[in-house]
Amino acid sequence: MILGCHVQMKAPDYVEGSVKEAIAYGANALMLYTGAPQNTRRNPVEKLRIEQAKQLMEENGMKMEHLIVHAPYIINPANSVKPEVAELAKEFLESELQRTAAIGASYLVLHPGSYTTTDLETGIRTIIQRLNSVQDYPQGVKICLETMAGKGTEVGFRFEQIAQIMAGVDNPEHFGVCLDTCHISDAGYDVTDFDGVLDEFERIIGLEHLHVIHLNDSKNERGARKDRHANLGMGTIGFEALHAVASNRRCEHIAKILETPYIGKKPPYKYEIEMLRSGIYNREILEKMANENG
Ligand SMILES: [Zn+2]
Repeated sequence: MILGCHVQMKAPDYVEGSVKEAIAYGANALMLYTGAPQNTRRNPVEKLRIEQAKQLMEENGMKMEHLIVHAPYIINPANSVKPEVAELAKEFLESELQRTAAIGASYLVLHPGSYTTTDLETGIRTIIQRLNSVQDYPQGVKICLETMAGKGTEVGFRFEQIAQIMAGVDNPEHFGVCLDTCHISDAGYDVTDFDGVLDEFERIIGLEHLHVIHLNDSKNERGARKDRHANLGMGTIGFEALHAVASNRRCEHIAKILETPYIGKKPPYKYEIEMLRSGIYNREILEKMANENG
């Protein structure tokens, strides 16, 4: 099982520190933001200890394609109302693609964005224009469009919308998909029948385009369009269904990344990864963490 989680990237060890954190949780994959997700301040790549990180991954049998980069959610490529937001999305996306390439990662996860005061079709058109305005797509890097919950005016909560974006871009070889179990459940898909979900994905997008899975439970009922992640087995999808996703043979080569909430101030990933690998759910350990950490 290729399992990882969202990890921090911070001074002084940067990417090397991120890999160390993932290894400490028993992960063989990881996902990081190249800086704070809510702003665009970034360190120069020379500082990020990339060579050391690569070496550490190799020593631990981890593949570079399982180190995922997530673009900050401040980027909104669907916004056609404010030209300055659109310009920022283009410029930042260009620099983020270069950073992803410099790190040696293959996949940059991107939220398609929100159409705000326009409409869905305008939003989709705007995203395509924005992605086509990017000057340089580095070799070996794909933008993975993430399936969204459909909260507010979010674009990308149906596979059809993702397929429409992918059909509109000038260089489709630089695009793929990241599927988030919490988001698709919130959007109305039935994660407890994951093979059914994969069949639909295959029919509308094509399974060869699926490169990353975000493995999260959801605090809300299926179809709620809220987007609130829950710890494994603490939400409406349940541990059994999420374990079935993690062990599904049709996506065994794909990294499953946990973005479940911290419990108190502590990351739950070590326990959640252990449970997924063993297939045995241990609610007590998560409850104990909650009691100890408030
Ligand atoms: Zn995301």
